[in-house]
Amino acid sequence: MNPLTIFASRFVAGEKPQDAVRAGERLHAKGIKATFDKLGEDVLDEGAAKRATDAAKDVLRLIPAGIERNISIKMSSMGQEISRDLCLENVSGILDVAKEKGGFVRLDMEGSKLTQDTLDVFHELRKRYDNVGIVLQASLHRTADDVREAVRRGDRVRLCKGAYREPSAVALQDMGEIRKAFAACAHILLDAGRYPAVATHDEELISDTIAYAAAQKVAASRFEFQMLYGLRRRRWEELVRDGYNLRIYVPFGTHWIPYFYRRLRERRENVLFVLRNVFR
Ligand SMILES: Cc1cc2nc3c(=O)[nH]c(=O)nc-3n(C[C@H](O)[C@H](O)[C@H](O)COP(=O)(O)OP(=O)(O)OC[C@H]3O[C@@H](n4cnc5c(N)ncnc54)[C@H](O)[C@@H]3O)c2cc1C
Repeated sequence: MNPLTIFASRFVAGEKPQDAVRAGERLHAKGIKATFDKLGEDVLDEGAAKRATDAAKDVLRLIPAGIERNISIKMSSMGQEISRDLCLENVSGILDVAKEKGGFVRLDMEGSKLTQDTLDVFHELRKRYDNVGIVLQASLHRTADDVREAVRRGDRVRLCKGAYREPSAVALQDMGEIRKAFAACAHILLDAGRYPAVATHDEELISDTIAYAAAQKVAASRFEFQMLYGLRRRRWEELVRDGYNLRIYVPFGTHWIPYFYRRLRERRENVLFVLRNVFR
């Protein structure tokens, strides 16, 4: 049996783009949007960066009409660690296809060694494109400033906690403090952000977002929740039933191990789920 099927099928839609699109269609039928991500990161040769770029374009072309053409990409797989020019050329090519297809591209945020560079490339792209958004990680000390700057610039932000292990010089380590920072950033985005995405499975933060939006009279149409494929599926249906926009991050592809590892590290229940599947 294929190792993806044994270990990771809860978190990854499949190996082929068609698998992801089918998952997107199933979500669409339930009133849930998707963002598709061809897994891959830390590419250090130009040929591989070109192949990752072409794959992202192919996904945009494959998504059928009626389903939002929304993808998430990691720029480290598009040449970010090779050269700025190469990365800009590759990502611009993806944004051109997205524009032609009426689609949107979210630049995922990776480890802190790439934060400033990712924002610099994003700001460069924003001079020419409106169909691109960024991710900010609430656990980083710098993020409240980055959120305010994004609001000032009218950038579309996905707010998450941050999935990478970072030192205390760069990031908060205590979950209580991370939650507090997340809520503060989410409030700024709800007040004045451009269609922000609140990306978390954390019930405390989901409830806080709902309560804050209600208190400040922020219409549910002005923001969206985002969650990862396979996590908290019952909660997806409740949010949609209650009138909130919800988008699921649908990863696919053969390079699933780093993504899968981050999910296991985040939550003991994820490990137990996988072990149960393996021994079943
Ligand atoms: C759509 C999306 C995109 C993301 N993009 C990025 C990115 O670009 N860069 C990046 O660094 N990170 C990204 N992340 C990952 C993110 O940074 C966190 O690592 C990840 O979401 C875990 O944090 P959490 O807030 O969801 O909850 P956790 O901190 O994992 O959990 C906190 C609490 O939430 C509840 N909870 C969590 N999971 C479940 C569950 N399955 N069932 C029931 N309760 C649960 C529990 O009460 C738990 O104690 C993304 C996350 C999402 C959802």
